[in-house]
Amino acid sequence: MAYSKPRLSPFSLSRQFVLGISPNKVVRETSLWFVFHNDGLLVQQGDGGEITPAIAPPSEFGFSPEFSRHIGNYCGAEIYAAELSKSITLPKTFHFIRLRKLFGKMDRDFFALAGRAIQIIHWNRDHRFCGRCGTEMKNRRTEIAKICPACKFNSFPRLSPAVIMSVVRGKEILLARSPRFPAGMYSTLAGFVEPGETLEETVAREVREEVNVEVCKIKYIDSQPWPFPHSLMIGFSAQYASGDIRTDNNEIEDAQWFSRDNLPLLPTRMSIARHLIELFIKSGR
Ligand SMILES: [Zn+2]
Repeated sequence: MAYSKPRLSPFSLSRQFVLGISPNKVVRETSLWFVFHNDGLLVQQGDGGEITPAIAPPSEFGFSPEFSRHIGNYCGAEIYAAELSKSITLPKTFHFIRLRKLFGKMDRDFFALAGRAIQIIHWNRDHRFCGRCGTEMKNRRTEIAKICPACKFNSFPRLSPAVIMSVVRGKEILLARSPRFPAGMYSTLAGFVEPGETLEETVAREVREEVNVEVCKIKYIDSQPWPFPHSLMIGFSAQYASGDIRTDNNEIEDAQWFSRDNLPLLPTRMSIARHLIELFIKSGR
């Protein structure tokens, strides 16, 4: 079944994914495996450079992962996330490549499925022991969750909501750069939602904190998962209200107003930041 919504996010699937933890019995012929090692996805590179995930069960490669979990069903195939903590020797054409580097280089739906798988792997790795009493957690059978056998504390896959926003003043957009960006690259501002905030309050606070600017007309645009490691990016547009740019010199080393014909180096199309900037560019046509 195709979704009627136009696809935006590189982590959106074009066909339906059914969450679940009870795979069909015949696993071998209907499973797709997404196996990671050190955050790299196991892929095969063809003679022409084309990249495909190595979706066969790990047993076919002669290894067994330390962690594996069924996470759902995609078009009749059972989807597994697996992590290998030890290094192994693989046939020459197989490699572990980080997901960020695979954007645009493999099937979109496989890329999206890998984005789901790695978040389950991170959650499993980082929540092995109960945060309340320290006992080793057990996987729940009925849902993707863990439970502490001692105190019954539940742990669910972690998601960190973050807002990201274009701030527009007439024909200009406010873009900023972090010290960790590649040279010359600017992007939209973004920040994590704090407990107790509405999303719109986070937008206003982040812009104020990072560049000393007040905004108004905050409008939701779109969202996308960002599995590096477990964010949900919630995209907004906002209009400039008042204030002169003054950066916090901490997270932001520079921020400027840019016109459409004078834009700096922009972030990758994998990011919702780029989508927000593209919307600004198109709005002036
Ligand atoms: Zn506990």
